[in-house]
Amino acid sequence: MRFASIGSGSEGNGLVVEAGSTRILVDCGFGVRDTAARLARVGIEPETLSAIVVTHEHADHIGGAKALGGHPTIIAHEETLRLLTRAADPNRPLPTVTFADKYIVKVGKQVLELSYHGNAHEPGNIFIYAPAQRVLMVVDVVFPGWMPWRRFALAQDIPGYFAQVEEIGKMNWDTLVGGHVTRTGTHADVATQVEFNRDVKEAATKALATTAPGEGLNPADKGNPWALFDNYIDRVAGQCVNSLTSKWSSRLAGFDVYIWDQCYAMEQSLRIE
Ligand SMILES: [Zn+2]
Repeated sequence: MRFASIGSGSEGNGLVVEAGSTRILVDCGFGVRDTAARLARVGIEPETLSAIVVTHEHADHIGGAKALGGHPTIIAHEETLRLLTRAADPNRPLPTVTFADKYIVKVGKQVLELSYHGNAHEPGNIFIYAPAQRVLMVVDVVFPGWMPWRRFALAQDIPGYFAQVEEIGKMNWDTLVGGHVTRTGTHADVATQVEFNRDVKEAATKALATTAPGEGLNPADKGNPWALFDNYIDRVAGQCVNSLTSKWSSRLAGFDVYIWDQCYAMEQSLRIE
């Protein structure tokens, strides 16, 4: 097994599992134009792939599939098939093998255990576990050493996303392939993410409870409910950011870039989810 840099350029982007002439690629990211070139850089000819497994339907994880020659076997969750059918994107071919709960991919004596743990990042995003290597791949959930991408990596279900980070922390593995940023992850990275999530939730909860609506609102916007909410939401997010900065600004890379987005997303989730 090796980690293949097929997507945005780090060792944690994709996986290649090989045994004899069988070769499975997990995820083939953006780079519709240069996916084959990226594969060549890690010594793989597209026609030698036995199958492609895709974690979910986002373009940065399957967008290079067509550039790989329209591979006949693409394995994914049934929700991924539904979403790709709706998208009708010529660069994202439809999966040919789908499953609901669990699916085993055999690669010689090795296996990949594909499983679905519910919606968090988006419907259909699967876990991939290689027991022999003790490698777990779950993408767009934990970003080792880094802040999640903005708004908890665009999680469609933030309570579900928080629960999934904790679930990953309790599973048995040695190496986490997270799909983005610069490296693979460890249990310490997941524990940091769990702690960060809890702190953001606590800070946003407190900011919501202690911020009064309407303060400092332009009098001209008095009859404009959107302006009233915008003013309130901004001040809640600002207070949340300020209360997290001293503890977290040097613990996770990219804190300054995305902390406002995380506080905003947390606040919205607490108010309506
Ligand atoms: Zn995604």
